[in-house]
Amino acid sequence: MNTPEPSMIVCAPGELDLSSPGKRHYQIAFPLDSSWGYSLLPFTVIRGTRTTGCAATAGGVVAFGGTHGNEYEGQVAVKQLCQDLEADAIRGTVFLFPQLSESACRAHTRCSPLDGVNMNRAFPGKERGSISERIASFVKREIFPRVNVVLDLHAGGNEAVFPVCASIHRVPDPQQQEEMLRTAALFDTPFIFLYSRQMASGLLTDEAEDDGKIAIGGEFGAGETVDPNGLRHAREGVRNVLRSYGMLDEAPRRVRPPSARHPVLIEAPSLHDYIATPMDGIWEPCVLPGDTVEEGQIIGRIHNFTNHASQPLPVLSHRAGTVIALYRAAVCRKGLTLYVVGDAHPLELKWEQT
Ligand SMILES: [Zn+2]
Repeated sequence: MNTPEPSMIVCAPGELDLSSPGKRHYQIAFPLDSSWGYSLLPFTVIRGTRTTGCAATAGGVVAFGGTHGNEYEGQVAVKQLCQDLEADAIRGTVFLFPQLSESACRAHTRCSPLDGVNMNRAFPGKERGSISERIASFVKREIFPRVNVVLDLHAGGNEAVFPVCASIHRVPDPQQQEEMLRTAALFDTPFIFLYSRQMASGLLTDEAEDDGKIAIGGEFGAGETVDPNGLRHAREGVRNVLRSYGMLDEAPRRVRPPSARHPVLIEAPSLHDYIATPMDGIWEPCVLPGDTVEEGQIIGRIHNFTNHASQPLPVLSHRAGTVIALYRAAVCRKGLTLYVVGDAHPLELKWEQT
């Protein structure tokens, strides 16, 4: 016997019910620019009805998957949470967007094919802008003010390979920084990547942290696949955040075995550690993401087949540290980031036994 499909409410952004108790699945209708019709943005709101247990300290949590359409662990993790989380187990409000750039997700591309916009460069958005800018504006105006914690679940796509990691930026407020680090650690990934804010503007997490939110990103896979290990960290990491803020009545729990070492913080806040490809060619990496390297150690080689008898160009690490990102594809183009090396700082964390 087939289970009936959960009911779906299709409505305009201004018609959403974001505050009544219970769980509601929506498709938010954003009018298209090029034709009569809509980008139907999947969205679930769960306003908890649980009154027992420890008090919630967060006004709410929002989790995004599919900010980039060719990164899948976050999409699947958030979709599973839309199904699994129930209002009677929750205190506070959980907002779930499994495919934030709905048009990019349907096209399986990084950027939206409708306006060519990278959703993770579209913030704070524009109320009367293109489709991606209007979605970003909606998130900024209607969702961010209702939450304390913002989770944006990414993967390497076709850009790069990372060791599975939660990620944060450096922020000026030490209290916010400390809480961001503690919250990122709840994903129990082997690494936490403190990455540069200098690379671009308009990131979803930039906007959220500038609004004072606890903003966490993460890279949970690579190569346009669904990595089961990354998926588990993404999904259970969101659950651990809800547990940590008292929104689920359970203590956070390890995602990896209890004997696994605690996450290591990798700091690479300066673009000096994001090394560009010096020439077009075929990229042969010689290290793995997460490896420790010495200054001058070979990171990889670039092959030029114009003369097949020529020596490849060796790419030597500009410094000692940990490789936190590595260019993924064989075909490399001059100017794209080839690798990132950062400083490793082991973290001391306490997990309650559950
Ligand atoms: Zn991404």
